[in-house]
Amino acid sequence: MPNRHGDERERSRRRDGAQPWRAWYKTARWQALRWRVLVRDLFTCRMCKRIEADTSRLVADHVAPHRGDERLFWDETNLQCLCKDCHDRVKQADERASIQTRGVWW
Ligand SMILES: [Zn+2]
Repeated sequence: MPNRHGDERERSRRRDGAQPWRAWYKTARWQALRWRVLVRDLFTCRMCKRIEADTSRLVADHVAPHRGDERLFWDETNLQCLCKDCHDRVKQADERASIQTRGVWW
């Protein structure tokens, strides 16, 4: 029996190491950028054109998936305001497509 537990640990380490950008969402810089995008788009979802008064239900979404590319991630012109409903729909479709074409998340 090969070293199964070691493999599991290695896989999980690699998964986290491959996505350092997850931490970027927790920075003050991102909070400020997100807010600029929401204000710029007048708190209106670009997809369903609904104005959402509750900003906790608005998402600054990357138009071109950044996939860890710092330039795309912080590019204000690559961001759009989406409501949570639209964002979750897009994201789910995206992840399904990603899994089908690449066999991995993101
Ligand atoms: Zn929407």
